[in-house]
Amino acid sequence: MIKQVGPTTINEHHLASCHCGAVVLRLHLPDGIVNPRRCDCSICRRKGAIVASVPLSGIEIVQGHDKLRLYEFNTKTAKHYFCSVCGIYTHHQRRSNPNEYGYNVGCLDGVNPFDIQDVPTNDGVNHPADRVR
Ligand SMILES: [Zn+2]
Repeated sequence: MIKQVGPTTINEHHLASCHCGAVVLRLHLPDGIVNPRRCDCSICRRKGAIVASVPLSGIEIVQGHDKLRLYEFNTKTAKHYFCSVCGIYTHHQRRSNPNEYGYNVGCLDGVNPFDIQDVPTNDGVNHPADRVR
């Protein structure tokens, strides 16, 4: 769990936004940033974001619900959301744990994800949901 990133303290309720500001999320982060990681699956390798996890109850859309677009592919288990104005990925419902959202750490107010040291990379090419059959 990470409660400080560079100069920014992670609040229990921390705001996150897309680049243009149309979409604003309020994240409930009582344990700070949990399990930050990169992933090399087909979508993550393209977007390159550092992602962390919250329970589904941990994200509230404060504004821009009508600007969010949903992208699904393959098994359509994961729900990938992005701002239709600026194109920035904000969060997704996870395929490997549909009770959780992953969110874009770079969208957190005041957080530069490059200040987080030693971010591991998930083996998304061999996705856990593909191994357990
Ligand atoms: Zn936007």
